[in-house]
Amino acid sequence: MSARATLSIDLEKITANTRRVVAALGGLHVVGVTKVTCGTPEVGRAMLAGGAQALGESRLENVARLRAAGITSPIWLLRSPTPAQAAETVRLTDVSLESELETVLALERACVEAGRRHGVIAMVDLGDLREGLLPADLPGFAAAVEGLEHVELAGIGVNLTCYGAVRPTARNLGELATLAAQIERRLGRRLAFVSGGNSSSIALTIAGGMPAAISNLRIGETILLGVDTLTRDPTLGLHLDAFVVAAPVIECRVKPSLPTGETAQDAFGNRPTFVDRGRRRRAICALGRQDAPPDGLMPVDPRVEVLGASSDHLILDVEALEPPPRLGDLIAFVPTYGATLQLSTSPYVDTSFVHSAGLTPKIVARSTPSIEEE
Ligand SMILES: *Cc1c(COP(=O)(O)O)cnc(C)c1O
Repeated sequence: MSARATLSIDLEKITANTRRVVAALGGLHVVGVTKVTCGTPEVGRAMLAGGAQALGESRLENVARLRAAGITSPIWLLRSPTPAQAAETVRLTDVSLESELETVLALERACVEAGRRHGVIAMVDLGDLREGLLPADLPGFAAAVEGLEHVELAGIGVNLTCYGAVRPTARNLGELATLAAQIERRLGRRLAFVSGGNSSSIALTIAGGMPAAISNLRIGETILLGVDTLTRDPTLGLHLDAFVVAAPVIECRVKPSLPTGETAQDAFGNRPTFVDRGRRRRAICALGRQDAPPDGLMPVDPRVEVLGASSDHLILDVEALEPPPRLGDLIAFVPTYGATLQLSTSPYVDTSFVHSAGLTPKIVARSTPSIEEE
């Protein structure tokens, strides 16, 4: 049993979630996005097994990890590379999302050198204010890409609900459809992909409001965590616990719920407030803000309450746990997207793959016997 915090990933739940999302999207081409797991190959394979037709990644290091594991499916690079990364982009990925002609010209040169072809999705900003050309600039950009010999204009796309929290609607995605029609007329051919966004576009699609021209979505969070990203409510009856992090208890003692003494700032410059609930049993787990934000950890056992965390200590109220946890026992949490991202990135957290049918233990396991037992 690991003495370190461990992120358990249930690959069967990821495959089942992918299958259900793909079915609900009724024929849309789905790119399964693995970036929150830093390009974990097992997760990519689980998405492909569930019917994702390509994988999406935002960092070339993660793509290299997928390729090194032998994944040969199409991979889309979701974050534009710099021109200097053109050769690596062309070597590792099939399609990239682009909004700068200078980068696309570097991709063209890299294609010539490598004797390869590469697809570009021209990104348009429809209000969310992350990547993309303003709509008026898109047709000219698309025509310039179309004029290249080795880089192909694979389509156009939009990203929403990431920075500006702008919802996908029949209106903004209708604008994407109109732009696609305009570009297709000008080029005299159909675009392979009209990419209508990420997980936040699923609800509109299910409700029947997605314009018919939209042919692709790029989906990460809903497949992996089972929630609608507009509300973070469960959706489509998906598994909500494909990811569970468990951390060992290093202290469990009864203490007052109010700090004693004059207070100043905490370790992070905040002035925390406390409610006096009397003396309560508290546990400390070996997991901290260096690994995950404490408000992104939902205890699997509802009797456990997260009180807060410092860099390396997660402080829990376990008054309601009977019997109380022992040292080394693991306490399990379902992480939010932000916490999953950080847990995947933390070098202090181990990853393990579980093959369970609905097994999410309250306290996952006991560690080695405690000293009293020896
Ligand atoms: C991260 C990302 C996605 C996937 O977003 P989810 O909300 O996880 O579905 C799709 N497209 C782009 C451009 C992204 O950066």
